[in-house]
Amino acid sequence: MREKMCTICKEPFTYKNKSKQYCSNACKQQALRNRQKVKLKQSAHSTEELNGKYNVELINRMFNTCIKQTEAMCKGISIHYSIIIFMKEMIQSLKLNAPVDSKLKKQLERMKGIMTTLYKYSKNNQCEYGYVCFDQLTSDKTLNAIKQIKRHLQSRV
Ligand SMILES: [Zn+2]
Repeated sequence: MREKMCTICKEPFTYKNKSKQYCSNACKQQALRNRQKVKLKQSAHSTEELNGKYNVELINRMFNTCIKQTEAMCKGISIHYSIIIFMKEMIQSLKLNAPVDSKLKKQLERMKGIMTTLYKYSKNNQCEYGYVCFDQLTSDKTLNAIKQIKRHLQSRV
């Protein structure tokens, strides 16, 4: 009979069969539980990663929709004040959910600045029914800022 150390309790034990790794059934059970725990941890981790990925895809998609809507608003159509508020809130939520220190977050921060400007403009220039139409200067400024945001989002840096 030979002796070796149990991989779980680290106590020496005697063995006949070379493949035996544990001193007792209790240690064998413990080893099994350890393996299950690791597996569980791994799957939790990958689910987290997957959720993160879908989140970013969703944020990107909604961000793009907001950009298109804002561009449309700058083309002389009048829009209801409540839409501006809705979009301002939307951008804020997207920003809060974007990955920390990401390119996406930075551009959402810029977009938030644009929406705040448009919001202030709407507050002061809406008609009695709550509709607003941006003047040439505001439209040009907005479209320019959006062009830059789009460029940053597309760049791979
Ligand atoms: Zn043991």
